[in-house]
Amino acid sequence: MKKILEHILSVRDDSCESGVNKRYQCSICVFSSLKLSNVKRHILTHTGVQPFRCLICERRFTQKTSLISHMVVHSGERPFICSVCDKAFTQKGTLNRHMLAHCGNLEISKKKTKREHIY
Ligand SMILES: [Zn+2]
Ligand SMILES: [Zn+2]
Ligand SMILES: [Zn+2]
Repeated sequence: MKKILEHILSVRDDSCESGVNKRYQCSICVFSSLKLSNVKRHILTHTGVQPFRCLICERRFTQKTSLISHMVVHSGERPFICSVCDKAFTQKGTLNRHMLAHCGNLEISKKKTKREHIY
């Protein structure tokens, strides 16, 4: 994997050799940065390497920020709150799924009233 990184970076080095404000550019996409370490970290998103591992559930992430936002799951913080019933959730996706349940309930009650009208 290290070899792939070196290859990608060396390709990029040839393209920008002049200037004080030398930018390191990803050879795969338009991403560029003044810091070589930033580009190296960025290239990991293309290689599929996920160096950031959650110590609790062993899930892997390409970006440190992704890992940090994932850690909320384990810290017990529940920043996503349902506006209907005030139930709290650790992840936005879970809240969204929960909100669908509210929609479903509404539909059921609508159907019920319809039925009542029919009978
Ligand atoms: Zn890129
Ligand atoms: Zn985890
Ligand atoms: Zn709710």
